Amino acid sequence: MSIQIPRGTQDILPGDVEKWQYVEETAKKLCHAYQYKEIRTPIFESSELFTRGVGDTTDIVQKEMYMFEDRGGRSLALRPEGTASVVRSFVGNKMYGNPGQPVKLYYSGPMFRYERPQAGRYRQFVQFGVEALGSEDPAIDAEVLSLAMSIYKELGLKQLKLVINSLGDAGSRNAHREALINHFKPRIDEFCGDCQNRLEKNPLRILDCKKDRDHELMATAPSILEYLNDESRDYFEKVQRYLKDMDVEFEVDPTLVRGLDYYNHTAFEIMSNAEGFGAITTLCGGGRYNGLVEEIGGPETPGIGFAFSIERLLAALEAEGVGLPINEGIDLFIVALGEEAKDYAVKLLHTVRKEGISSEKDYLDRKLKAQFKAADRSQAKYVAVIGDDELKENKINLKDMTTGEQEEIALEQFVETVKGKLS
Ligand code: AMP
Repeated sequence: MSIQIPRGTQDILPGDVEKWQYVEETAKKLCHAYQYKEIRTPIFESSELFTRGVGDTTDIVQKEMYMFEDRGGRSLALRPEGTASVVRSFVGNKMYGNPGQPVKLYYSGPMFRYERPQAGRYRQFVQFGVEALGSEDPAIDAEVLSLAMSIYKELGLKQLKLVINSLGDAGSRNAHREALINHFKPRIDEFCGDCQNRLEKNPLRILDCKKDRDHELMATAPSILEYLNDESRDYFEKVQRYLKDMDVEFEVDPTLVRGLDYYNHTAFEIMSNAEGFGAITTLCGGGRYNGLVEEIGGPETPGIGFAFSIERLLAALEAEGVGLPINEGIDLFIVALGEEAKDYAVKLLHTVRKEGISSEKDYLDRKLKAQFKAADRSQAKYVAVIGDDELKENKINLKDMTTGEQEEIALEQFVETVKGKLS
């Protein structure tokens, strides 16, 4: 019986995993520059965190969550996103009392959604995300957006589009909500069942509907930007001004609505414009969620964040033909000939590895030629050749694979010599 990998998941094998590591390292480095600190939370949480915290009108929570009961009868969910977990931890660990405010965090890890798998859409995918909690300064919004863009740019992506919108504060949202209900209500029976449910619960989400996207009422729906009160408009203008000051290019799209219910003020998405990227062009999404901490049981605390998946980031790199500077070669390959030499190679390999030199030897009892082939395959910078004769003379032959030069090195000086050459 051969057991298949679950639908919508993938193995990331050596050869590809280096790309993942490179991308994650780059993102982490930039988070450090922007002073966001890593947080690690569990992969499963109480289902309630998402059914409550995220709001219940989203597909993510209503239809796509992996929920199960554990042996103790608790209802648990594999996390579908990272923000709710970070906020749960922020509240549980009373981070709102930390002296350093705002609390700026990042995370990276697998998320799970029971979606229809297709290119760029998996059932398990890795999200990298950041959250800044405790500040309602539009400069933090601009910082978060620019951090997301910096990660993509640092990796070499060029064909990007940053789209922003404001959903306004509660007052603006409510005014807009009323206008939306009035707009859609007379003809709501022409919309899908989901939209009919959304009408009273969260009419903003109707604008996000994929099924009714082409209905004529969509194009004429009242824009949130007309309903922003002075404060919200001022906030949005400041965010835009800061972005301009930072030379971050963007477009304003008043129809941008984010999937999750808890957003207000700034909402944004980063898209790939690369040809051949495929139907799903969104690389990253995020926004401000000023009510979420309170909803999850903490004190009123503003927050903003974003998340992107590494899967789509790598797809964008591929679509733009960007290669990552990944060096898969090793420092040293030890070729050994003869019984004594082979034994000695085991010891020598251990010694050089302790010095941090990446190194390898043959384990298949290969002939000289095949060992050299293996050394080539490993893209070794240096190849050391030890034979029983050399051992008797306390010498090792070292070949520089870039120049082809060879030299004899005394055994006791071997490690230091190789270290010197590599540094
Ligand atoms: P969301 O949490 O839905 O706002 O998604 C944020 C980002 O996560 C998206 O822009 C994608 O980069 C990524 N993402 C969401 N769902 C998936 C999925 N099923 N497979 C791969 N990436 C995803």
